[in-house]
Amino acid sequence: MDFNFTPKVQDMQARLLAFMDQHVYPNEARFFQEIAENRAKGNAWIPTAIIEELKPKARAAGLWNLFLPHSPRAPEGLSNLEYAPLCEIMGRVPFAPEIFNCSAPDTGNMETIARYGSEANKDRWLEPLLKGEIRSAFLMTEPEVASSDATNIQCRIERDGDDYVLNGLKWWSSGAGDPRCAIYIVMGKTNPDAGRHEQQSMILVPANTPGIEVIRPLSVFGYDDAPHGHMEVRLTNVRVPVGNMLLGEGRGFEIAQGRLGPGRIHHCMRSIGIAERALELMCKRLNTRVAFGKPVARQSVWHERIADARCMIDQARLLTLKAAYMMDTVGNKVAKAEIAMIKVVAPNMACQIIDWAIQAHGGGGVSDDFPLAYAYAHQRTLRLADGPDEVHRASLAKLELAKHLTMPGEVEMPITRGS
Ligand SMILES: Cc1cc2nc3c(=O)[nH]c(=O)nc-3n(C[C@H](O)[C@H](O)[C@H](O)COP(=O)(O)OP(=O)(O)OC[C@H]3O[C@@H](n4cnc5c(N)ncnc54)[C@H](O)[C@@H]3O)c2cc1C
Repeated sequence: MDFNFTPKVQDMQARLLAFMDQHVYPNEARFFQEIAENRAKGNAWIPTAIIEELKPKARAAGLWNLFLPHSPRAPEGLSNLEYAPLCEIMGRVPFAPEIFNCSAPDTGNMETIARYGSEANKDRWLEPLLKGEIRSAFLMTEPEVASSDATNIQCRIERDGDDYVLNGLKWWSSGAGDPRCAIYIVMGKTNPDAGRHEQQSMILVPANTPGIEVIRPLSVFGYDDAPHGHMEVRLTNVRVPVGNMLLGEGRGFEIAQGRLGPGRIHHCMRSIGIAERALELMCKRLNTRVAFGKPVARQSVWHERIADARCMIDQARLLTLKAAYMMDTVGNKVAKAEIAMIKVVAPNMACQIIDWAIQAHGGGGVSDDFPLAYAYAHQRTLRLADGPDEVHRASLAKLELAKHLTMPGEVEMPITRGS
């Protein structure tokens, strides 16, 4: 087993780290300041100047669309294993991925359109997304039903001549608050009478189609994540051409399988980045604060936490790399156990380490003077988004149990000594 990254990846890591040092960390406060100023002026839902300034710099530095898998449109595309250490670095600052056109949900949506869209749809929507000119949202979850079971999704997609007509209510549509968000991928039912996994389809819906109403942003522990936002969206008689259907009617689950694999592992790579940063901040703080006559870092409880944090990060990173390697070599479907494992492990690990880092910072830790409170809020949502922990654990348990099923007529062999 070779644990080294290739020279190409090592070179990109070095360039990305330098870019973060030069352009991202020094502008972290400015990003939040800009949003606060926009909010004070009456509208936080506009793109920040700082990200727009940094995007051309990232492109010029060759740090653009790094998430892209190999394809005719991306001959230089990276594998999941190559992307993992780069995505981890971007994950250290919540808004950094957008600077490199590598942010959710655009990456998952771009992959979906690249894999399942027609050439016309790719020209119309994928090209501007790849250039970072527009943004996108993924509309699956609905307030009225338990959406972790996507067979529950009620939004209707009905054929009417050369169009499909959509009616439904969605929420947690991340990114739909951004005025640049021009295209939605919507999941809904085309045939309620079909088999359980053949009822749903996914379709492209331009955000400016009549009948779309963005109702409100939802808040995450009080953060509205403007200008990105997690929106509630109503679709009333929304009409789009039949050519907007992705892959075909009734194939929504097939797409979900393809889409959610990379999306999930990207979240996990970023979780490792923010956990690593939290550990760094924790150590620096503990080294410099003195309480009860000695640096807090010398209290043994912190040794325990720091050691555990290091073990947990490295374990999660190795599992993420294994999942990435399997996705590259045997495909997302065969790698489903590894993807499920890392989707449970990484956000839980990050939440625990950020929680310790918050504790190490005392009252400051829960304020926005440090990046920890916001990071915690975000990581906590990842235990729900893209499938709650329990659903991934249930899939894992099913796979494990299936290994030990005894078929009718099959005799279970006793375990004997020396066998
Ligand atoms: C910040 C954020 C961003 C999001 N972005 C998007 C987005 O862009 N697009 C989108 O479509 N959705 C998005 N979501 C929604 C997210 O994917 C859903 O919240 C998630 O799938 C769970 O669905 P639900 O909220 O309907 O919870 P429910 O399905 O009602 O589940 C509630 C709880 O039931 C429990 N549960 C469910 N199944 C099982 C089981 N098998 N065994 C045991 N317990 C179980 C779990 O504890 C679960 O949390 C986002 C969510 C958040 C918080």
